[in-house]
Amino acid sequence: MLIVMKFGGTSVGNAAALRQVVEIVDKAHRRGDRVVVVVSAMSGVTDMLLRGARQAEQGDIETSHRSHEDILTRHTEVIDAFLAGTPAHERVSGELKGLLDEFDSLCHSIKVLGELTPRALDVIAGMGERMNVRQVAAILEVHGIPTHALDATRLIVTDSNYGSASPLMPQTTRRSQEVLVPLMDEGVVPVATGFIGASEQGIVTTLGRGGSDYSATILGRAINADEVWIWTDVNGVMTADPRVVPDARTIPRLSYAEVGEMAYFGAKVLHPQAIRPAKGADIPVRILNTFEPDHPGTLITRESDGNGKTVKAVTAIKGMSLVVIEGSGMIGVPGVAARTFGAVARAGTSVLMISQSSSEQSICFVVPASDSVRVLSALREEMSRELERHDIERVGAQNDIVVLTVVGAGMKGTPGIASMAFGALGRDHINVVAIAQGSSEYNISIVVEQADADHAVRALHEEFKLGTSSTARR
Ligand code: ADP
Ligand code: ASP
Ligand code: MG
Repeated sequence: MLIVMKFGGTSVGNAAALRQVVEIVDKAHRRGDRVVVVVSAMSGVTDMLLRGARQAEQGDIETSHRSHEDILTRHTEVIDAFLAGTPAHERVSGELKGLLDEFDSLCHSIKVLGELTPRALDVIAGMGERMNVRQVAAILEVHGIPTHALDATRLIVTDSNYGSASPLMPQTTRRSQEVLVPLMDEGVVPVATGFIGASEQGIVTTLGRGGSDYSATILGRAINADEVWIWTDVNGVMTADPRVVPDARTIPRLSYAEVGEMAYFGAKVLHPQAIRPAKGADIPVRILNTFEPDHPGTLITRESDGNGKTVKAVTAIKGMSLVVIEGSGMIGVPGVAARTFGAVARAGTSVLMISQSSSEQSICFVVPASDSVRVLSALREEMSRELERHDIERVGAQNDIVVLTVVGAGMKGTPGIASMAFGALGRDHINVVAIAQGSSEYNISIVVEQADADHAVRALHEEFKLGTSSTARR
């Protein structure tokens, strides 16, 4: 079997976790599977790199020095634990030092210029993966697994949309096959960086935060893998974020559509785009727990298990703003919606959800809070005449809101789901700010205030009897 295995940040975050990784890869290798390993940066490292770069832009270089020291400590602990006394120790330490020096000089340039471009940010963001891949490959090697460390800039060709690049599959397929297949033919396990790729001009790009999942499915698709296994720190995709809902439980089977919806609406366990390459070639994806490798986790395929369960999960996406444009002069005026979303698109923002409203007096939609100022000024400019004439009375935004989503394929055509959801929230005195139902009918989305979010997730989870402590139908 050909398996692409991706290990997330916590799975490679310390020596104990890495011992698990060695065991998992070793087992597959001994079984005779062909394996490609994809690794994230050690947990927290990407954030440290980004913090250093952003502070440098503000004229503060101290933060990048602290990031440098913290990253060095984290890596050195692991390198010492696994590689002491081997020739790889000096090599990997040297490579780490080289990358940290590069980080220092980039931050220095950013400070001098006072400018951090998206292109520079991607180079810096991706350094954690480049540091880690060398270390993980060497650790597997000293445990008797032949490996080859690779920067995915050699494999994944993307567009130049820095910060959230998309793969160009024909080029990626050609490169990945050229590089990875001969290695596997020799019994070598390629170990590649997650998260990064390169444009056709060879400039480093990233696939968006959490993008190593996407790297794994892109490579899986490119080399026709039999399966993609995403190793993380929980027992698969669960009925809700276990950090918010302690009795959340594993969902054994999900369809691509269901998990896609969950990821899009905030289930951090999978990058929102990651399912697309797998779906296109019907490659099964498993979400597994590095720290409990015998747990079956979640299997994701085209078909869901169809066990009749309507609602499967509750997700929440935080840090959003609800933009509202309203005015009695909008009634019956054609083109207001088109102009509104045209202005939003020009602001370079994608809209997460649009709320249905029976009256034509208002349009409201959700965008990431970080974009709301930009969106508002684009809208005010677009609607300046209507605002002057008071046809539109208000263009404003409510910040600190959360989109809750109730997801499940069985919801299609099942009446009463929405009333159950609102009933549960009403009983708990949680104010609903706006609602929307996706046309797929795989979800209902409910906007609440941030302060109510966790409470609301627990109330919905309980209402649909999703938890381990409920007498759930299963
Ligand atoms: P990794 O570093 O392995 O990519 P992430 O932190 O990106 O891991 O994703 C795993 C985390 O996603 C879990 O620790 C969990 O807190 C969170 N999460 C949010 N929603 C869900 C969900 N529905 N099922 C499982 N995990 C979830
Ligand atoms: N290291 C990257 C991030 O923190 C990618 C990933 O972990 O998937 O976003
Ligand atoms: Mg992740």
